[in-house]
Amino acid sequence: MSNFKSVQLVLKPPAPHMVGDGFRVHNFFPSGYNMGMLRMSPFFLLDYGSKIEFPASEKPRGVGVHPHRGFETVTIAFHGRVAHHDSTGNSGVIGEGDVQWMTAGSGILHKEYHETEYSKKGGPFQMVQLWVNLPAKDKMTPPKYQALENSQLGKYQLPDDKGVVEVIAGEFNGVKGPATIFTPMHVYTARLKKGAGFSFFLPEKFNTGILMVDGSMKINEEENLPVDHFAIFRNDGTEIKIKALEDAVFLVLSGKPINEPIVPYGPFLMNTKEEIMQAFSDLNSGKFGVLED
Ligand code: MN
Repeated sequence: MSNFKSVQLVLKPPAPHMVGDGFRVHNFFPSGYNMGMLRMSPFFLLDYGSKIEFPASEKPRGVGVHPHRGFETVTIAFHGRVAHHDSTGNSGVIGEGDVQWMTAGSGILHKEYHETEYSKKGGPFQMVQLWVNLPAKDKMTPPKYQALENSQLGKYQLPDDKGVVEVIAGEFNGVKGPATIFTPMHVYTARLKKGAGFSFFLPEKFNTGILMVDGSMKINEEENLPVDHFAIFRNDGTEIKIKALEDAVFLVLSGKPINEPIVPYGPFLMNTKEEIMQAFSDLNSGKFGVLED
């Protein structure tokens, strides 16, 4: 007797837009389908950079210095390399299979550019950027940066060399991810060979979606999820059964909703308008620190 978490929608990638000159992204939520700002809470935003070729460039493409407060930005690299610098003095480079988990918390300035050597050569580029909300009590937590190399991720090996689940946050079948989190969630990437399949279980009330990064698969024995599409699940069951129709890579997002009002404004994600005004005031008075362009 199965108790499937049923697929509500399979979304095709919305028309892309550029973030700076280095990131061509499809916004699945909150803007792409107007599904409501809390529909995927604690995940507030999913920008997906589907695979493209960037030509060689002497000047790295990217996004210049900008602030954040009140949430976390998570960058997951599938192809290409990105360099990060922020106003707490942290920096890092992530490449294929690596993850960057940045807690903006009380406020940070950062910039992200294609890493210099990648930029000089050009080549395939494919990334995810996710914004993870923080609960009101943690919005002003000190900023923190975690560069998680692929080797640091939790690894759940499927039997018979059929693939691996790389756990970024939360856990999968008892294997834990290294990212520090503030509310309950599971974030993982699965890399499967054609024909591989398994069931996994998530709490019924966790908001859940799957992004198909490469290849395609069947969900719950009936729904096909093609490459670059995002499946959003109803909050109605606990089991998700998948089968890879070809070699496949997909990203699972599942988290306990944060049931608090939110007020997003540009790079800030707070609970009230007053807190947004305070963020601008603090930014203008230098409380986010200093970062050179
Ligand atoms: Mn940013």
